[in-house]
Amino acid sequence: MMTKQKLLTRTQRQMHHFRLMGLVALALLLTACATSPLGRKQLILLPDSQMDQLGRASYVDLKKKQPVERDPHENRYVQCVVDALTRELAGPWRKVQWEVTVFKDDSANAFALPGGKIGVHTGLFKAAKNQHQLAAVLGHEIGHVIARHGNERVSTNLATQTGLQLAAVLAGGSPQKKQQLMSLLGVGAQVGVLLPFSRRHESEADLIGLDLMARAGFDPRQSIALWQNMQKLGGSKPPEFLSTHPANERRIFDLNRAMEGALAKYGRALAAGKHPRCH
Ligand SMILES: [Zn+2]
Repeated sequence: MMTKQKLLTRTQRQMHHFRLMGLVALALLLTACATSPLGRKQLILLPDSQMDQLGRASYVDLKKKQPVERDPHENRYVQCVVDALTRELAGPWRKVQWEVTVFKDDSANAFALPGGKIGVHTGLFKAAKNQHQLAAVLGHEIGHVIARHGNERVSTNLATQTGLQLAAVLAGGSPQKKQQLMSLLGVGAQVGVLLPFSRRHESEADLIGLDLMARAGFDPRQSIALWQNMQKLGGSKPPEFLSTHPANERRIFDLNRAMEGALAKYGRALAAGKHPRCH
């Protein structure tokens, strides 16, 4: 009797296993081919709706765990920059209800999650010293979201040995596994091990952010100053943001190379009367 029950359970487990594998294979067939806003081919396995759901759930979690800064001045300031940037987004991204929360956290960090959820640490103001520099950070973070880097990162994991584990998480796994998945979204250190964004994702987010800030009427040259501030702030130990967003001279080099085009867009934005006053 016992043996039969065990066997049944095992068979059920196997069935579950096969269903998950089927799910992964189906996802591969249906949605594997995608292109980033800058024309790069991407592996995208999950429906955006699922990523949005994960992002929103993770955000709710963070707001429960992390003290939130209620100061109306700081909140209005950050919201003003986010509004100016997201107004420049195209298509479906413009319709997203972008929400921003200021967290009381001394590390110079910020993040944006799928589903349009943005977090700014109070410590970020040590590096982002004016609205243009704040727009550079937030444009970069929004860039990660609209280029679906979180989805790509989870998808790459799905396609490797942890694939089935992650599929199990998506089917409703343990809180521990869920945390692992959240860390793939690039959420703050609070939720576990962080994977730094890849050089390729960083570069893409930089260029998208530069374009957004310029079109919104923020001075794109301030993006260089921002990264220099970040670097100075860290001294020998890099600030939080740099440990999850690896920086190097290459970043500044690439931004400078794209500056001429960005300045042209900035000029057109100013001529069109876009003068954000978010202070
Ligand atoms: Zn980044």
